[in-house]
Amino acid sequence: MAKLYHDSDADLGVLKGKKIAVLGFGSQGKAQSMCLKDSGLNVIVGLRKDGKSWVDAKKNGMKVAEVAEAVKGADVVMVLLPDEVQGEVFKSQVAPNLKKGAALEFAHGFSIVFKEIKVPKENDVIMMAPKAPGPMVREMYVQGFGTPALVAVEQDHSGSAKSIALALAKGIGATKAGVIETTFTEEATSDLFGEQVVLCGGVTALVEAGFETLVKNGYQPEIAYFECLHELKLIVDLFQKGGMMHMWDSVSNTAEYGGLTRRDRVITKETREEMQVILDEIRDGKFAEEWMKDAKSGMKKMKKLEEAEAKSRVEVVGKGIRALFETKAPAAKKPAVKKKTAAKAPAKKASAKKVAAEPAKKAVPKKKPTKKTAKK
Ligand code: NAD
Ligand code: MG
Repeated sequence: MAKLYHDSDADLGVLKGKKIAVLGFGSQGKAQSMCLKDSGLNVIVGLRKDGKSWVDAKKNGMKVAEVAEAVKGADVVMVLLPDEVQGEVFKSQVAPNLKKGAALEFAHGFSIVFKEIKVPKENDVIMMAPKAPGPMVREMYVQGFGTPALVAVEQDHSGSAKSIALALAKGIGATKAGVIETTFTEEATSDLFGEQVVLCGGVTALVEAGFETLVKNGYQPEIAYFECLHELKLIVDLFQKGGMMHMWDSVSNTAEYGGLTRRDRVITKETREEMQVILDEIRDGKFAEEWMKDAKSGMKKMKKLEEAEAKSRVEVVGKGIRALFETKAPAAKKPAVKKKTAAKAPAKKASAKKVAAEPAKKAVPKKKPTKKTAKK
């Protein structure tokens, strides 16, 4: 069973009077530095002078300095820069200014596990990785709670590395939700595997393949979009909240029978074998080597793939569709209208515009889709 920590296991006092340098003010840097500051800690943000983040950090009331300056004298240095630049920035600006005994902290184990960064023996190396995007970390904190997080210790020179990691977790509210102990290697490799195979790579490929299959068979792209992309969130919300059985209980029996009998034909034995190959490439460093090579030569491969993705049909169609539908109920009007007249729904945007974002091919279903469109 994983080791879990809560508020009472962490002591913010460990960080009182200490200088905390947060490098980066992006997704995680912004959220974490602002939460730590609001928790009463002494935080300075380290950035490139006058960049976009510099302006944003100032605007948000943060103390800001250039990376080298922020690192000088800091007791904790939180490296919340993009993974692909951490090695370079560490070498040129962090290492020469790093105080002996300071703790170097990460939100992802990549740079340490794949040796982009080599930390001197006389420093602590710790991780505190929120399991949520930065804006969610901040939002939960502002609501008086926090998102779950992971903590890990790679190097414990001071003897108090874990208590520092837990204090940081407390400072962003994470110990309210629960913090799990892991190792740098477990976090880094499982995180890469999850995003490649399930969360980012797997799910987008599944959505695109399903969408393309319907469109190729003459279905309207708008219908395919709702079936294969839009509704995905509703299903995921169900099993994220209550597990697979809660989801199966909530969909129709037809959906349950169809899903349970067909899913092994979608994720086949071959797919599972390929997942193993992908995990092996992560663990032996092949993936990290490939990604760092592309990142350091201008991300040529990634940009090309990104361009293709932006032009893909599901993306183009989706943009048009999302622009046509309301995504939330209109805000209640201030001067309360009498009940009798207030119930009128706003005219659907869809009726005013042309629906097709792309000329829809005429739908020519091979068979009449009467039975198979049984609703979820
Ligand atoms: P980001 O791209 O959102 O922000 C990076 C910040 O670093 C920006 O403020 C940018 O201006 C600054 N920066 C970039 N290059 C710089 C340089 N050379 N010198 C100084 N500043 C520079 O990054 P992020 O997504 O917050 O990721 C930070 C770390 O957090 C990574 O290790 C990532 O794996 C980890 N992480 C991210 C998330 C997430 O939700 N985005 C979740 C968990 C862990
Ligand atoms: Mg992750």
